[in-house]
Amino acid sequence: MEQPRYRGRFAPSPTGPLHFGSLVTALASWLEARCAGGDWLVRIEDLDPLREPPEATGQILHSLDCHGLFPDEPVRFQSKRHEAYQAAIEQLLSRGSAYRCRCSRKQLQQHGGYHPAHCRNGEPAAGDTPYAIRFALNDEAGHWHDLLLGPQQQQVRAELDDPVILRKEGFYAYQLAVVVDDIDQGITHVVRGSDLLDMTAQQQQIFRALGARPPAWLHIPVIVNEQGQKLSKQTHAPALNDRQPAGNLFMALEALGHKPPPTLQTACVEDVLAWGRCNWRRQAIALTSRQAHGINPVTHLPPDH
Ligand code: GLU
Repeated sequence: MEQPRYRGRFAPSPTGPLHFGSLVTALASWLEARCAGGDWLVRIEDLDPLREPPEATGQILHSLDCHGLFPDEPVRFQSKRHEAYQAAIEQLLSRGSAYRCRCSRKQLQQHGGYHPAHCRNGEPAAGDTPYAIRFALNDEAGHWHDLLLGPQQQQVRAELDDPVILRKEGFYAYQLAVVVDDIDQGITHVVRGSDLLDMTAQQQQIFRALGARPPAWLHIPVIVNEQGQKLSKQTHAPALNDRQPAGNLFMALEALGHKPPPTLQTACVEDVLAWGRCNWRRQAIALTSRQAHGINPVTHLPPDH
């Protein structure tokens, strides 16, 4: 069977400006796509206005530009895709692959985190209680081959893990939107942080329920701070300094297990990226063998971080 053309993407949630950890992910996905001669897309996963400062999207796109990471197609915004998510939900509901859940947090706790069976069976609750929509997982072990980590197996527990795909507040959830857009954009390869590894078996089931073949996944180690916490807005990760993009890229390559020559530290962005393209070896990431603990970027962070 003919392989479809490689299409990768970087899909940040705009909860804050780009930090070093997200640059490492962006660079790894860009290098994978470039080395495969494929397309690299950027998708802003702006599904939750309550967690997204309005300036974050502009800051992220500006940072990517400064670092020479230009997408091959116009940037996609999930905030403009609600109709597609609604259509997917209706499709899943009509096939019995999703259900309305009116459980309050308290009720779920009383059932040890499980959904009382009446939710899955579609019994209407009294009154017009607001509801979430959940994807109905099959109780099974998901198998896939991670391009870095090798064969993976993940047990999915129906009901206990059933992900919310439409939140009670009316927001479409990440688990659904990421799959709908990966299908719609013809994404063949997903490169992302290993903090999302646990989501993979669930997403694999959503792909199949929507009649699509799941992409290949490659999970890279997450970058952690001195306390061992993943760099994120919650852990107060500093924003990237866009005035020293070549230095940032140099350190991102090091964090990905590569050894760019020191002279590149003062080179221009194009030269660092060109070195990355010529020398990219996916397996070098594994050689850091810090997947379980993440990579400590402290030694990599530029001086004024
Ligand atoms: N939007 C997600 C995040 O920023 C990433 C989605 C994905 O790569 O699957 O964590």
